[in-house]
Amino acid sequence: MNLVERVRQTAIEQPEKHAYHFLGSDTTYGEFEQHVGRFASALQGLGVNKGDHVALILANTPHFLISLYATMRIGATAIPINPMYTPDEISYIIKNGDVKTVIALDLLLPLVEIGITALPQVEKYIICETTPDIGEKFAELSAAAKQKACLFSQLLAKTTKVVDPVDVHDDDVAIILYTSGTTGHPKGAMLTHRNLYSNARDVGKFLLMTPEDRVIATLPVFHVFALTVVVNAPLLLGAKVLIAPRFSPSEIYDLAASQKATVFAGVPTMYNFLYQFDGNVENFSNLRVAISGGAPLPVQVLYDFEEKFNVRISEGYGLSEASPVTCFNPLDRERKAGSIGMSISNVENKVVDINGEEVPVGEVGELIVRGPNVMKGYYKMPEETANAIRDGWLYTGDLAKKDEEDYFYIVDRKKDMIIVGGYNVYPREVEEVLFSHPNVIEAAVVGFPDQNLGEAVRAYVVLKDKTMPESELREYCAKHIVKYKVPKEIELLDELPKNSTGKILRRTLKEIQKTI
Ligand code: AMP
Repeated sequence: MNLVERVRQTAIEQPEKHAYHFLGSDTTYGEFEQHVGRFASALQGLGVNKGDHVALILANTPHFLISLYATMRIGATAIPINPMYTPDEISYIIKNGDVKTVIALDLLLPLVEIGITALPQVEKYIICETTPDIGEKFAELSAAAKQKACLFSQLLAKTTKVVDPVDVHDDDVAIILYTSGTTGHPKGAMLTHRNLYSNARDVGKFLLMTPEDRVIATLPVFHVFALTVVVNAPLLLGAKVLIAPRFSPSEIYDLAASQKATVFAGVPTMYNFLYQFDGNVENFSNLRVAISGGAPLPVQVLYDFEEKFNVRISEGYGLSEASPVTCFNPLDRERKAGSIGMSISNVENKVVDINGEEVPVGEVGELIVRGPNVMKGYYKMPEETANAIRDGWLYTGDLAKKDEEDYFYIVDRKKDMIIVGGYNVYPREVEEVLFSHPNVIEAAVVGFPDQNLGEAVRAYVVLKDKTMPESELREYCAKHIVKYKVPKEIELLDELPKNSTGKILRRTLKEIQKTI
């Protein structure tokens, strides 16, 4: 069984069941299956075959779901890319990923002209219309660009044949996800059909997802968190995906009410924004669970949100290389604030020392993971693969500890740890303290070079009442944490830099630091 087959089965058994909702209209599983089968046939007509690579440079629209499932249906490999990336970043992935066909948002039309000379291996660009005047802009393309480009809607309209799924092996690569890694260029994590299917199935099981669920998909779909938790898991179970084109608190409030949403998944910053937004909390009265992941959820944000919305947040943990989920707070047992929960079914998590030996309960070490969700490897990077996967275990680069009840806690990223005069400071611990101050909206902590101590702690903070002196915040920290962890410097910002998935960009903060 794989995802394509599973959706097909739902379409046969319950063709009238809603697969997704987008901007006021519903699409049934029967219709979705037709779109996917026809688009798959259109791709084959353009010469895309089993094993070929197709880039999906798309936002949260149905084009993504149709393109992804059509690509997998013909045994080709999809490479989702963030449409907000610069042409250089996109070109790097297209070249490194040996992409032959590009399916892109219309705002990326200029990429077609660039590609004529810079990306000769790309044979076809399929442009997805999201703006009304795209036909005119398309008409203005050069003759060479026009030869390589076509419009998604026209392609779909002229294809009537519904192609059957091509036979794929569980170990065939379904998608390649480029992940930023610590240094250098992004690496392409190869996820197989087994990886994607098993993680969507195990996540769905852990979240007690049913066909009756209505799941808000506002996380960007090109990111693995969204892909598995709010796209593949609900589709695998025959539930309904509520596609939100962007994250806007007011639109999410409206969508939750109009669609009686039962599941929301977001990164911590989204919880903060939803909490701060002045809307009617009753709009979320059907919500049975909220899922947080992608970055540490500050405990204060968790408590505030749960109290205001009267719903439980289940924090989980994952990474692209694990398709992504490895842990979740179970819904049928205790939810522990500050914990990423327990291993989901079929996945093992272990905390080890530098020799790969498991450390005792309560001690900090590196989190390693094993299971059917662990990637096949990095595309064309055997050395990096051998470094990441040793004896069948994926080394996550995250520091963690486990309690007596097998709940895991992420302490920090290995590389983000700050060493102040020989003492380890985990930024997360300091951030938790800052967050617990009622006047703090956002906080991020990084290390900076210090002549005497080697490194010292600097905090970047967004305040509600900006007139509060930073000394007050420092005194507050000193009451809660030992002196060497108290930020030596505090910089007040209007907002913190974040990437498109809402994760705080520590690298950008470090750049800001150089200018201070
Ligand atoms: P990505 O591959 O982009 O999904 O990033 C994965 C990384 O996000 C992990 O290695 C962690 O550092 C971080 N991460 C994900 N979930 C959590 C969480 N619940 N708490 C702390 N860090 C997290």
